[in-house]
Amino acid sequence: MKIIIDGNQITDKESLFSLLEKTLNTPEPFGHNLDALYDILSDSGDEITVIFKNTDQLKDSLGSSYFTRLSYVMRKAGATVFEGEEKEESMDLNKMGKERRREYLSNLNKQDKYKALNEIIRNARCVTFFGGAGVSTESGIPDFRSKDGLYNQHDVQFDAYSPEYLLSHDCLVREPEVFFEFYRQKMDVRGIEPNKAHKKLAEMEAKGKLNGVITQNIDGLHQLAGSKNVQEVHGTTLRNYCMKCRKEVPADFIFTSEDKIPTCPYCGGMIRPDVTLYGEGLPDAAWSNAMKMISEADVFIVGGTSLSVYPAANLVRYFNGDYLIIVNMQHTGYDRYADLVFYDKIGEVFSHIEL
Ligand SMILES: [Zn+2]
Repeated sequence: MKIIIDGNQITDKESLFSLLEKTLNTPEPFGHNLDALYDILSDSGDEITVIFKNTDQLKDSLGSSYFTRLSYVMRKAGATVFEGEEKEESMDLNKMGKERRREYLSNLNKQDKYKALNEIIRNARCVTFFGGAGVSTESGIPDFRSKDGLYNQHDVQFDAYSPEYLLSHDCLVREPEVFFEFYRQKMDVRGIEPNKAHKKLAEMEAKGKLNGVITQNIDGLHQLAGSKNVQEVHGTTLRNYCMKCRKEVPADFIFTSEDKIPTCPYCGGMIRPDVTLYGEGLPDAAWSNAMKMISEADVFIVGGTSLSVYPAANLVRYFNGDYLIIVNMQHTGYDRYADLVFYDKIGEVFSHIEL
């Protein structure tokens, strides 16, 4: 919560406390009592930032010693207090050397980290985002490599296979019935909604802050949220094509087809999803676009991936800009190269980005 106390608007204790009561949403007026204010602030679960603006006028109208006590009580109750607008902007990261900046950023508390994140994005010329499975799990998409939660249909015994095999080119061509049974159970994301991270990224792109999204996910949720430039480096479940005549069929074709092995309505060939299976090469166009986007960015945000799987992890090496930001629940091997690291849910972190 942010409370702005502006000397141009606050002309006496009456208006000060009426502002505080309104902002803090207190059930009843607490008079001009600073002890009561202390209790309310320290009991509040929120992180509170207080910004005093036009402090000279405030000191005139409230009295200098009262102003000092007010500010002291707020700090003591746990609020972050800034006096004067210029101090709110005091974190001039661009003027620090890279080493000093990293040290400074790594010592920030959570709230100041969010401020720094916003400052970095605000000053950015071009931001690129690269996301992994963690971006989708917050929409309720399970890790598709796991065999958990599968039920047996059509007499297919998944226990006999590894998840890697079930998602491999070999399985598709040798045992297509097994492949499609697993695929239909695991990859059907119809009805799943984009989350806060997807939506914020789409908004960033619409406002010209983001040059695009690079994703390892194959669920199409970024497009559903409104993102336009999405490079899917592992392909997508939203595209299917015939292995014989290469014609495309609708996105839900495999899920709605009643045949065990979906067949092409034009030539009778086998329909397959345009996802990269184990044993297949990665899509060239998406990868070269991804590398280009990363090399052009001055801010690179990596989220929801442990960066442990190659070649995806290699993408970070193409970044040559100013700020590498990593958001992941667990540590990654690249944390030490990052300027800002959040060990948190990606939706949570992105909900703090103010555009
Ligand atoms: Zn065909």
